[in-house]
Amino acid sequence: MTSVITRTSVVDPADWIESAACDQPDRSFIKTPAGRELTYAALLDHSARYAAALMRRGVVSGDRVAVQVDKSTEAVLLYIACLRLGAVFVPINVANTLNEVDFFLRDSAPRVAVIRPADCPVLEPSATRAGVAHVETLGENAEGSLIELVRRVDDSSLPARRVDPNAPAAIVYTSGTTGRSKGAVLSRANLASNAAALVEAWQFTADDVLLHTLPLFHIHGLFAAINTALAARSCVLLLAKFDAAAVLEHLPQATVYMGVPTHYTRLLHEPGLNREASACMRLFVSGSAPLLSETHREFLRRTGHAILERYGMTETLINTSNPYHGLRKPGSVGTRLPGIEIRVAHDSPAAGEQDDARGALEVKGPNVFAGYWQDAEKTQHEFTPDGWFKTGDLGRIDDDGYVHIVGRAKDLVISGGYNVYPKEVETELDALAGVSESAVFGIPHPDFGEGVTAVVVPEPAAELSEADLIHSIQSRLARYKIPKRILVVEELPRNAMGKVQKNVLRAAYASLYQQ
Ligand code: AMP
Repeated sequence: MTSVITRTSVVDPADWIESAACDQPDRSFIKTPAGRELTYAALLDHSARYAAALMRRGVVSGDRVAVQVDKSTEAVLLYIACLRLGAVFVPINVANTLNEVDFFLRDSAPRVAVIRPADCPVLEPSATRAGVAHVETLGENAEGSLIELVRRVDDSSLPARRVDPNAPAAIVYTSGTTGRSKGAVLSRANLASNAAALVEAWQFTADDVLLHTLPLFHIHGLFAAINTALAARSCVLLLAKFDAAAVLEHLPQATVYMGVPTHYTRLLHEPGLNREASACMRLFVSGSAPLLSETHREFLRRTGHAILERYGMTETLINTSNPYHGLRKPGSVGTRLPGIEIRVAHDSPAAGEQDDARGALEVKGPNVFAGYWQDAEKTQHEFTPDGWFKTGDLGRIDDDGYVHIVGRAKDLVISGGYNVYPKEVETELDALAGVSESAVFGIPHPDFGEGVTAVVVPEPAAELSEADLIHSIQSRLARYKIPKRILVVEELPRNAMGKVQKNVLRAAYASLYQQ
């Protein structure tokens, strides 16, 4: 019999592995499409060997281990080794450039950097210049110097672990779409409490198989996915990357899927996506970017599953979720998770008009990070005097307690002195015939300060004209909210997590009104 683990039963992330290996050694933790399988007992043994390899390189509790590698079972083992050793895991997006990686290495000052073998000629000298003591390599097919080091381990006993819930477990650099990336320091208690809240909220059990296609350098794929599975002793079916056809092929072996909205729109393009293909699934979760209501409805129609949308961020992990039982409202990110508080502040300069229910979202709870790495000033700036974290998102909370996000505070457009919430305009544009999706943003305008501007992506074969689009929304929105220009584009610029990069759009169209 399996049972849902309650929040109070989790003390430290390393307990997940140790207790699961003790109670259920033969249960699978990881399976791969290539037929590889790792039980919880093997996880305990292998991760101890990785930890011992790191110790051979001088890593002790509190040392940073920076990791920029392709997704693999070994990458997961390296993360778990850090958890067990008390080392601070610093995941780096594989898309980051040399210049960015150089900054992360100088900033986090890791004892060891683990990189892809192919990046070694360029990155190793840079890491050495940044003062990193040891550079190891790890390839996607279990090759590289780290693996050699692990093979040579003859004693994999770990030092006695001192459990300090406030000790840092990871430094995750924010995606930096609104400025320079900052290193968010997440404690062991942050990880443990959030995983426990998600096990409870999403009813995870040891019988679950999580189909994993997300990257491991972001909180979604690493913490929301891997940690929740570990805390519930579930199995992870690890795919190297997202591929709609591969997801469809593996759905019958899985029970839960976690994805970003782009995954769901791509899955909807698969003719084979239907009730039969998803009959074994009990839950589809979406997050990291807004899920269109249209995608939610279409997915429900095709599969019978209402996608469960949740809301989180690097600094706080997951804050809110639509309910497992009960109404999953399309367009809402759900209610606060157990133990977490969320409020709307109306006194922020970015908040809406005085009588507007919308404002700046602020969060408090055991999920909220300790601060930015070695940046007390920035940390202080992002918290209110009474200790709430300023998420930088704008939203409202409806009468049922469901949170609705209306956009990033930095994306709010102030045109002619009026606040325009991009989401409101995007919702109207998205509802028009022939429009697949849209993005609304503000750029300098000689008359209005900022001009509301939109780009729209047409449905396949649809012909869209700017004049018709503007005409169609004129009866639906106040005049000051109507975009001054609506440009038809092939696609929206997105980052690896599917977030639309409005900074890229603002830069691309910066001089549109300057003639
Ligand atoms: P990151 O720190 O990269 O995870 O980005 C966090 C940001 O993603 C949040 O502050 C939100 O702006 C956005 N985000 C995450 N989940 C959602 C969601 N379900 N709907 C809308 N925006 C979201």
